[in-house]
Amino acid sequence: MDIQENVSLRHLNTFGIDARAQYYTEIHSSAELQETLRHWKGSTPFVLGGGSNILFTGDVGRLVIRNRIKGREAVRRQAGKAWVAAGGGENWHEFVLWCLDEGLGGIENLSLIPGTVGAAPIQNIGAYGVELRDVFHSLEAIELSTGMEHAFGREACQFGYRDSVFKGPFRGHYCITRVVFELTTGPHQIHSSYGAIKEILAARGITDPTIRDISEAVIAIRSSKLPNPVQIGNAGSFFKNPEIPQQQFDGLLERFPDIVHYPAGEGLVKVPAGWLIEQCGWKGQRFGDAGCYEKQALVLVNYGQASGKDILQLAQKIVDSVDEKFGVRLMPEVNVV
Ligand SMILES: Cc1cc2nc3c(=O)[nH]c(=O)nc-3n(C[C@H](O)[C@H](O)[C@H](O)COP(=O)(O)OP(=O)(O)OC[C@H]3O[C@@H](n4cnc5c(N)ncnc54)[C@H](O)[C@@H]3O)c2cc1C
Repeated sequence: MDIQENVSLRHLNTFGIDARAQYYTEIHSSAELQETLRHWKGSTPFVLGGGSNILFTGDVGRLVIRNRIKGREAVRRQAGKAWVAAGGGENWHEFVLWCLDEGLGGIENLSLIPGTVGAAPIQNIGAYGVELRDVFHSLEAIELSTGMEHAFGREACQFGYRDSVFKGPFRGHYCITRVVFELTTGPHQIHSSYGAIKEILAARGITDPTIRDISEAVIAIRSSKLPNPVQIGNAGSFFKNPEIPQQQFDGLLERFPDIVHYPAGEGLVKVPAGWLIEQCGWKGQRFGDAGCYEKQALVLVNYGQASGKDILQLAQKIVDSVDEKFGVRLMPEVNVV
């Protein structure tokens, strides 16, 4: 067990925030994690994946455990399906590419999402019409307070829009060590109805797309729209898209006839947070090194030396102004630590 003290997390979070961990270690297997937990006498450790969905607002006065558990394998193939297991510390996008090489479909729409496999169930990652829960089979996790291993099926995870039991009542309770996915070996279900995907496929003259065509289209769209964290610090969408009751939406529609919206089921309407933020004039605004990205208002960025508190302050101002104008309270998608 190698525990270091006072370690900079700057290169371990995509916002590039200069926070420090009082104690820091990396684990490469469940057994190593359990061994670390057996010896650790301090407060409950904090689990870190790729740091792509975190805003550190100060130093972390705890043990930070970085999940480096690797491994991926098809555990079973049957009747056009494959059950594939991956270690929680695997890089998500590399896992997607590996699945494509193996001819496995289901997660191609989730190409190029930063972070780790183990963090993917935490907020039920989603993009371009597909969510993790669509392909999720089960996961294994170790309880941080006891070191006990637990298995979770789909029901137990309580997946919702950018949400799961691990963001709610079990927040910070577990380290997810292994995830099993239910993928297709063929024929694959192609999800190409998203406008931007359709446009790229049409421009490329593709009428009968493969899973790799979809992945490449998604990579092209994401690369043109989202800031690369290597160049500009960010954590993707900072806020969730609010889902508001139909009645409240009807009132908004009267005042703002061009409001962008989508049905969200059960009397709810989803309004893109980026649109609301843009209407309040925040897009492209910069305060020191903290800013609202010029190409996508939903993304807050660190141009270099912004602190977590600078970003949080900007987020708070945005929340207040959207609330004032639309009466809608934005909720962060990013984990503020
Ligand atoms: C440019 C960019 C684009 C993005 N686009 C999308 C998108 O399209 N869709 C989407 O859903 N998300 C998106 N994200 C957000 C992010 O990529 C995902 O939420 C990702 O799953 C986070 O993984 P991570 O390993 O970096 O988690 P981290 O940021 O390290 O951790 C996030 C949270 O999960 C916890 N955690 C991490 N690993 C584990 C584990 N193994 N067990 C238990 N808890 C854990 C942490 O304690 C923390 O609370 C984007 C981010 C960026 C920077």
